[in-house]
Amino acid sequence: MKSIKNLDIDGKRVFIRCDFNVPKDEFGNITDDRRIRASLQTIRYCIDRDCKIILASHYERPKAGKYEEKFSLAPIAKRIHTLLKIKNEMLMATDVIGEDAKSKANSMKEGDVLLLENLRYEVGETSNDEEFAKELASFADFYINDAFGACHRKHASIYAIAQQFDTDHKAAGFLMSKEVNFFSKVLERPIRPFVAVVGGSKVSGKLEALTNLITKVDKVIIGGGMAFTFLKAQGHEIGTSLVEDNLLNEATAIMAKAKDLGVKFYLPIDLVVAPEFSDSVPVKYLPTQEIPIGWMGLDIGPASSRLFREALNDAQTIIWNGPMGVYEMDKYSKGSLQMSHHIAQTHATTIVGGGDTADVAQRAGDVDEMTFVSTGGGASLKLIEGVELPGLKALEL
Ligand code: AMP
Repeated sequence: MKSIKNLDIDGKRVFIRCDFNVPKDEFGNITDDRRIRASLQTIRYCIDRDCKIILASHYERPKAGKYEEKFSLAPIAKRIHTLLKIKNEMLMATDVIGEDAKSKANSMKEGDVLLLENLRYEVGETSNDEEFAKELASFADFYINDAFGACHRKHASIYAIAQQFDTDHKAAGFLMSKEVNFFSKVLERPIRPFVAVVGGSKVSGKLEALTNLITKVDKVIIGGGMAFTFLKAQGHEIGTSLVEDNLLNEATAIMAKAKDLGVKFYLPIDLVVAPEFSDSVPVKYLPTQEIPIGWMGLDIGPASSRLFREALNDAQTIIWNGPMGVYEMDKYSKGSLQMSHHIAQTHATTIVGGGDTADVAQRAGDVDEMTFVSTGGGASLKLIEGVELPGLKALEL
């Protein structure tokens, strides 16, 4: 995969596909601008080379073909301008490939930055439409993909557009290169012991990733809602905890494979259990084998935390994806926050993937202690699964 550094972009028009899909509160304020900040390196690099920079991103899921203010990228343009601290104007188009975008793009000066409106306002984006991609491509001489978080989607601004440029005119941005290099280096040549910490709500979303990881790691630590499918498969009473009964066989197969390969497989030994999914009910801290009928496990308990810390002690490489409990509720956040501290305190290379997991590390104040926090949840899981990402493939063709 070529890097932007390999291209001769000086003074040229550069289209950068970014991932500005940031969380906002109910009043439309950006609550976490990490993804915007992560894109600045590539944008600044282009500004320093006097490029005319056209930025594009999707934002959530508006109804295609329809403008709705709450999905507008206008607040993002403001934030980019604030963060970039540039003297040039930050231009914001009111459409994607319409009159406004075209006229603003045509009147750009060197070092100007133009942000197009939400790509998903156009029907052609998600359908990977070639005509739409051609229109997007006509804005620029070079195509840069820096949207790692969207690379697992075969959309026009990710895939079809790249086909409009030859290999001397397209490349990965700095963020994208960093993400891909980190994951591939760690997965291909991990320094051992290599430990995977996997949590979150469901086994189903991470089944392929787990199946692939098990062949590469030395230990797997499972927490969160997905642990109950494994616990049930082992014959435990799990009360009303989250479970995927249709995956009990898969869970058993994964544990058997771990055993065959000599991979240590850790499940919670105690839990925080509650009579219902709520923050305002009395909870109990109980061994996994004592979940009362009708109660549910919503976080790992203190003994599991200590056990997992022991298992992490000698790790040299750690991949972490998924919280250990319902961390959004204070009462059930401790297991996830502790896990973040444990991982941050090791001397291992630590890679945190997934929006929720990055959020936990952020709340725990551990982000600076992690080696790398990935901006793309779904895309990083696909890389772990060993699946070819359309966005990466398109840069190589
Ligand atoms: P995922 O998107 O699969 O990574 O799952 C993240 C979500 O899993 C978070 O919103 C957590 O609240 C949820 N979660 C973690 N542990 C549990 C649990 N024990 N029961 C229900 N939900 C959980």
